[in-house]
Amino acid sequence: MASRVRNICCIGAGYVGGPTCAVIAAKNPEIQVTVVDLNQTRIDAWRSPSLPIYEPGLQDVVELARDGLDGRTPNLHFSTDVEGAILAADLIFISVNTPTKTVGVGAGRASDLTYVESAARQIAEVATSNKIVVEKSTVPCGTAQSLRDIFSTLGQDNVQFEVLSNPEFLAEGTAIRDLMTPDRILLGSLRTKTGLEAANALADVYAAWVPPERIINVNIGSSELAKLAANCMLAQRISSINSLSALCESEGADISELAYAVGLDERIGPKFLKASVGFGGSCFKKDVLNLVYMAESRHLTEVANYWRAVVDINEYQKERFTKRIIRQLNNTLNQKKIAVLGYAYKKDTGDTRESAAITVIGQMISENARVHIYDPKVKESQIKQDLSAEHRPETIDRCVTVCNDPYTACDKAAAVVILTEWDYFKTDGLILPPALFEKLSIKDPENPRLKRTSTSSSDTPSEGTGSSTE
Ligand code: NAD
Repeated sequence: MASRVRNICCIGAGYVGGPTCAVIAAKNPEIQVTVVDLNQTRIDAWRSPSLPIYEPGLQDVVELARDGLDGRTPNLHFSTDVEGAILAADLIFISVNTPTKTVGVGAGRASDLTYVESAARQIAEVATSNKIVVEKSTVPCGTAQSLRDIFSTLGQDNVQFEVLSNPEFLAEGTAIRDLMTPDRILLGSLRTKTGLEAANALADVYAAWVPPERIINVNIGSSELAKLAANCMLAQRISSINSLSALCESEGADISELAYAVGLDERIGPKFLKASVGFGGSCFKKDVLNLVYMAESRHLTEVANYWRAVVDINEYQKERFTKRIIRQLNNTLNQKKIAVLGYAYKKDTGDTRESAAITVIGQMISENARVHIYDPKVKESQIKQDLSAEHRPETIDRCVTVCNDPYTACDKAAAVVILTEWDYFKTDGLILPPALFEKLSIKDPENPRLKRTSTSSSDTPSEGTGSSTE
């Protein structure tokens, strides 16, 4: 096995593969890094000035390594030539999507490992020299062993494969900051000589900028499970505070005050304690459900039930939120204009996967509301595509208007609903910037009617729609 990594291939140029490899390349100018994907449009965008994903700070890092700024030799490449990149690499990240299965055994809970398997098969069939293969995707326990089985069955006899687990903890919206200053880098390996050598080779890549005490060697099962556990515990914290927000409303307590008081306890801490419309994103729900499925398949019924409740509360919170809007508007949304500010699943990303906005807007459409949506980073085509999964095109045409600015969205609206906590929508003490109120038909920012029908701060999505790890 290579003691020093010189050439890295990353299979999957998504929200994880792209930013992670951009930082690795930027911090290791002597390593060639090629990110490959089957999706030509995505690769074209990675090569262009207009990147396929929005992430603060990403553009600078990509341009530095990809275009060779500051006198550097370019060492970050994007390609659809998967085979070529596998052949050239001594270390390969598998960073493909691992969505929830939609059909078959474990549908709705288990992880769909189709893309991981397909990437592994391709590596096995193409490789003519030794490879370190790294699970970057979030996968259930036991996946590393499945990969080893694939390599030993399909790989050439004279080629050695060492499988590592190195889950990614970045959060969308803060991906570059998280990658530059990670809380920890987890390296799961077999406790064999070659396993530990491979882990050391990958540790050297991170050592270019990560302090040694943050690079942690563990066994592969711990690494695979730790990633799932981290997301489950973050999602659980959001569901805990959201469940308490329901109690607060019925008891006349203030969830912000409660969260502040509870968070002052050092054992609990203040982070991730803002009530919200519920968590979204491509990871939390799928990873909790994946854990539920793992527990079920090991006959740990109580464990499965415990974690399933985290997702149940999240669904309950979204529905509760819509019901509250309906209640505030005399129990009918029929033909009423509702302004929705924010559509992405959290601020500072254009990602809409599993966004709470999809559910809440979908429920308002079912009530025949006229929903006018503004989000600074989400395109109209994406919004219409998301909503068309549940509603007919003619319903969407009738009920949904995507606006280019928040003023148009809010003009003469019966209610303003904030579904993503973009900083732009916030000012000290006011939910909406004063400029927005001036353009509204209701002139007074303190107008109690507007306050009542807008989402209150306790409802405003915060970490609840995002996360510090995904
Ligand atoms: P993504 O859907 O944005 O990107 C995955 C990419 O892999 C897609 O572009 C797809 O075309 C490509 N792909 C699939 N199979 C391929 C193959 N055989 N060859 C080449 N390309 C292939 O997904 P993502 O958000 O980057 O997530 C990737 C993994 O990382 C998932 O397991 C996810 O759970 C995990 N993760 C995601 C985040 C996050 O914030 N998005 C954070 C941590 C971990």
